[in-house]
Amino acid sequence: MVQILPHFIGGKHHIENNNTCFPVYNPAFGEVIAEVPQASDATCNLAVESSRIAFLYWSQTTPMKRASILFKFRELLEKNTQELAAMVTREHGKTLSDAKGSIARGIELVEWHCGLLHQLQGDFTANVSKNMDSYTFRQPLGVCLGVSPFNFPVMVPIWMMIPAISAGNTFILKPSEQAPSAPNRLLELLTEAGLPDGVVNCVHGDKSTVEYLLNHRDISAVTAVASTNVAESIYKTAIANGKRAHTFGGAKNHAVVMPDADMQQTAKAITGAAFGSAGERCMAISVVVTVGANTKDALLQHLLPEIRAIRVGAGDKETTDMGPLISSAHYTRVLNAVADGVTEGAQLLIDGRYFAHPEKHQGYYMGPCLFDGVTESMQIYQQEIFGPVLVIVEVDSLESALQLVNRHQYGNGTAIFTRDGYSAYEYSQRVQVGMVGVNVPVPVPVASHPFGGWKRSSFGDTNMHGLESIQFYTRRKTITSKWFATDEAHNSFAMPVHK
Ligand code: NAD
Repeated sequence: MVQILPHFIGGKHHIENNNTCFPVYNPAFGEVIAEVPQASDATCNLAVESSRIAFLYWSQTTPMKRASILFKFRELLEKNTQELAAMVTREHGKTLSDAKGSIARGIELVEWHCGLLHQLQGDFTANVSKNMDSYTFRQPLGVCLGVSPFNFPVMVPIWMMIPAISAGNTFILKPSEQAPSAPNRLLELLTEAGLPDGVVNCVHGDKSTVEYLLNHRDISAVTAVASTNVAESIYKTAIANGKRAHTFGGAKNHAVVMPDADMQQTAKAITGAAFGSAGERCMAISVVVTVGANTKDALLQHLLPEIRAIRVGAGDKETTDMGPLISSAHYTRVLNAVADGVTEGAQLLIDGRYFAHPEKHQGYYMGPCLFDGVTESMQIYQQEIFGPVLVIVEVDSLESALQLVNRHQYGNGTAIFTRDGYSAYEYSQRVQVGMVGVNVPVPVPVASHPFGGWKRSSFGDTNMHGLESIQFYTRRKTITSKWFATDEAHNSFAMPVHK
């Protein structure tokens, strides 16, 4: 019998009997290692009520008090990185070093929020009229919901819930049912750090849990990170129900390689960005656009050996560069996408479909795939594959590269590789993509700069990270106050004018 994971409500584990469970797999072995329950409506209601009551207290705490808990939480994340990374690797499959890197990016965001007194500072204008001042400040929204994907079970929940609770909200996390253990552990650590019960709750389940919560009147705001159709549907339902929402979807990230790029460095950078985490990253490079007649051949000279040298295996082995895919279903989807690419007429230069792990036959392992001769109309170019599949498209000029990237439905991340400042400037300025790297293959911004894509890679007006998160999780209130001597009191029936 495998363990059934609990929900986390009101500062403790919550177990309900007789509900549906989903298997949680270790993709390195293809084995069921736990079960995750589908929250019933009653459990969702319990979580919302717990969050609603906690908000009454938490929204009144001082920023300094909240920051002191974040300082402690940061320490606990550092101390428990190894354990959290092992959980991520066990359920997602990515390598331990990659899992640790993603936890470090979570810690970075917690650190930024430790200075939240400064982030919440408002505006004050003295003497707007006689004896009258105006000040504007931020107040939290209430109970917020976060829906997270399988590929970053620690980092993405942190990116949502820490800004929300820093700003004085309470938060319900609905993690991916495919990687639910690390999110539970995060809530235990928050409680250990001194977070009062109910400020963050976690309910498990699939889309029906999300749908129930999206229709709950006591939820004020929704953040979701998901595949594009899901992100769009969550966004539309949330705003139709009068909630504030921003959601983040899928991607197809282009790396534009100029003829003057350092081909060896570029090939290394692209290999890591395309095949790290088996391509299961929303910021993975999945398209290489070579510019000019000889660039592709010059790049391939370095790229082919780099890709062929990738060591595929279980994520917990130090010698592994690329772990398995998340699930059997996803493995089949990626295999089908590669088969479609072959049918469409692209040339499969490296075919990782038949990779078989010598010991772990049941794991969802696939080797890296590289397609050449890809054209814009092909599905392997148009669709997010979210696997270890890289495609090469050739263009004749930077202008053509820009037009190609700008026509794509997604606009999450992109990178240009060049030694020419003007090309880099021109590309960065004109590309219709939210996050751009110049010789930086995975341009996930530091916590103080906004994270979010354009076009069908995100829905809503605000990004994650930094001040934009604070803006999302708060609303502004302006107070106009006047203190006057009793002998000045008078009635006025005209519109007040500040003179
Ligand atoms: P997914 O869309 O299958 O699921 C994401 C979350 O939404 C899960 O918690 C799931 O339970 C829930 N969900 C699934 N279907 C739903 C529905 N119909 N209604 C409501 N909720 C639903 O995504 P995934 O496979 O877990 O994650 C991979 C996807 O996430 C990729 O497309 C990737 O690009 C995207 N992603 C985007 C970012 C970003 O910042 N833009 C970051 C990470 C992942």
